[in-house]
Amino acid sequence: MLTDMHTAHDGIWASVFDPTQHPWLPNPSTGLSLENILALSPLNETDVAQHIARFLGLSLISLAKTPMYHSSNSSKNGVFIADNLMGISDPTQLLSTLSKYHAFKEKPLRLVCLSHTERLRFLYKQRSLSWQKRLDKKETALVNLPDLARFCCDYAYHMRASDLQLLPQGKHHRLTLRIDGIRQSLLSIPAALSIRLARHWLLQAQLSYTQKQPQDGTLSILINTHTKRLRLHACPTDKGMSISIRLPRSTQHYELSDLQLEPTQRKQLMQSLSQSHGLIFVTGPTGSGKTQTLYCCLRHLAHEGRHVISLEDPVEQELPHITQIPVRANTDLGYAEAMTHALRQDPDVIMIGEVRDRETAAMALQAAQTGHLVLASCHSSHTLATCDRLKQLGLDLRELNHIPTTLLAQRLVRSYCTFCFKQKKQSCLHCDSGYQGRRAIFECLPLSSSLIQVLSSHDMTQINRIAKKQSVLWLGDHAKLLIQQRITSLDECQRVLGRLMESNQHDS
Ligand SMILES: [Zn+2]
Repeated sequence: MLTDMHTAHDGIWASVFDPTQHPWLPNPSTGLSLENILALSPLNETDVAQHIARFLGLSLISLAKTPMYHSSNSSKNGVFIADNLMGISDPTQLLSTLSKYHAFKEKPLRLVCLSHTERLRFLYKQRSLSWQKRLDKKETALVNLPDLARFCCDYAYHMRASDLQLLPQGKHHRLTLRIDGIRQSLLSIPAALSIRLARHWLLQAQLSYTQKQPQDGTLSILINTHTKRLRLHACPTDKGMSISIRLPRSTQHYELSDLQLEPTQRKQLMQSLSQSHGLIFVTGPTGSGKTQTLYCCLRHLAHEGRHVISLEDPVEQELPHITQIPVRANTDLGYAEAMTHALRQDPDVIMIGEVRDRETAAMALQAAQTGHLVLASCHSSHTLATCDRLKQLGLDLRELNHIPTTLLAQRLVRSYCTFCFKQKKQSCLHCDSGYQGRRAIFECLPLSSSLIQVLSSHDMTQINRIAKKQSVLWLGDHAKLLIQQRITSLDECQRVLGRLMESNQHDS
């Protein structure tokens, strides 16, 4: 660790520490911050924290069982976990952090190391307690609105929330977050302040508070020195403006392998993607990850050199090498109109964001019949229910006999938190609930002609017999595999799938 003392005159840093020997440590001379290192490092966060603790000669502790200590002295670089006990994680910030705490000269300040995420999440929880105390004391006139608005977005970002919502309800309005699909409370705020906060956000998004119609806009905020654009939706209610802010997802482009399909499912999907023409319907309720699955398929197809056009309402993520056309239902450029335009562009593959009317369904079928591969999402609970949905949309299943058609249903279940998995059912600062992140459950059903023949009978014995022959996994079967592999729990699968956990429960 110590370099040759001859280099001591090169500077204090070089005299005690050779950065080239420690690429996992933050280093002001290379400009790499701890955040960048964590993003780039092949090591996981706990390993990096262990190296830093060893380097500083401090013990690394986990806050999993530490009760929340309320301190207003905590800062972005050092959090107080108890009296005079400070947790740090970034050695480059050590001196500046310590210099802020002259007040503790009387009592010796004790230091421990924390992982980066634990420190930030502990800090933001302390701050949310401070905010709630101030709001409860009705110090609302003194509240700095930009500070509160910023705190809410920062908090949501650091807690990995997908949405932040301001919900006008009664005397106290609620600020809530959605994390891994589960709603959590952030703050309860007095109605008068909630109105000011809503105005603040609307102004930032260049929208009007007096508008009686729902509005869409974007907010630009600074998170970790990067400007992020957040989608904002405002809807007037009888108790005030309801605001929903969508947090940016990772800009990472996922590949087909990231979907983590079972080998048989992957083979079935790849087979349908390799066709020059056909239909692939991805189904599931809102928020079940359909868009991400479709995006992975499109990226795979574009990578093969095919001309891909996607029609989306709205475009959720920009994809390289794919022509994305934003459509708006009930306007001159709805799905059906956009489809007509797209076909004139001579595409090999067309993606339809959602098939929700007979006209679009008929056009999708026609495009598939004329040599295009058509991918689409539609709302139904599972693959067999999709058949009923397609019939409602005017498609005769017998017409699909000569068109390779694949139905893919999916759900997202929360997966166990890798940080506290060994102490199962406990939570830690990384997760709050024992779960962290989500994993998709799939049901991939290629519509063979023998299957089409028995589908109208709704005879599950017959359908199951053919599905088994085709190695189809129902949603419940895939869920059970993930439970066996200890990726998620039975409770979680039952929460998401309900009676679909039982195979043979497909009689929609
Ligand atoms: Zn955990």
